[in-house]
Amino acid sequence: MINMTEKHRRGLMLVLSSPSGAGKSTISRQLLDDDPDLIMSVSVTTRAPRPGEQDGIDYHFITEETYHQMVAANGLLEHAQVFDNFYGTPRDLVEKELNAARDVLFDVDWQGTQQLGENARDDLVTIFILPPSHDELAVRLRKRAQDAEDVIAKRMAKAADEMSHWNEYDYIVVNDDLEKAVAEVKAILAAERLRKKRQVGLSAFVAELCR
Ligand code: ADP
Ligand code: 5GP
Repeated sequence: MINMTEKHRRGLMLVLSSPSGAGKSTISRQLLDDDPDLIMSVSVTTRAPRPGEQDGIDYHFITEETYHQMVAANGLLEHAQVFDNFYGTPRDLVEKELNAARDVLFDVDWQGTQQLGENARDDLVTIFILPPSHDELAVRLRKRAQDAEDVIAKRMAKAADEMSHWNEYDYIVVNDDLEKAVAEVKAILAAERLRKKRQVGLSAFVAELCR
């Protein structure tokens, strides 16, 4: 007999995007701390590990040859070159987690989100985090990094470019009050987990109810 209180569901892929400074890292950290069924996606990269970085935790560090093989074999759900290094999201690792009823959190920009949408739309839930105002975004960028004013100005311009893609996302959360924003993301996650397409064995369960 099917017991629907047990985990009979396929995990989902949760994308959080935002302009730098809107609070995406802060919100992600809280979600991951509070929810053992949510795990962070670990990317592959061809760059060398930095001091303190651990293989399999911060990144899977791979050679360029392996990277190109993965791309050719369609083994990456999305990939990009950033400066001289290559990065990507390994398809098989994500699939393993989804099959084990775990949700995978992604910290990718709008371009990565578009690629994920092309390769895994059914599993994908996308949220765009906005700051409450232009001025508050500038305050948060200043608070986080003691950067020179010209660096802040560049970040603000980049933020405007990122924010222009807000309409490509499923949900918009304005991060004014942090606790409220975290609660809103959790509510989205809770509802998306209950979508019937993610609940495995529903037909058999209902058939048994109606016997
Ligand atoms: P991102 O990952 O989007 O670049 P961070 O999470 O690093 O942004 O947040 C940028 C700064 O803003 C940090 O100093 C963080 O503590 C602060 N911050 C985040 N959310 C809020 C909020 N709701 N209210 C005030 N400050 C916040
Ligand atoms: P870093 O080398 O400093 O860790 O990351 C450099 C850049 O690569 C960052 O902008 C980061 O967001 C991006 N990046 C890291 N992993 C991935 C990934 O899996 N896919 C894509 N598209 N970009 C990534």
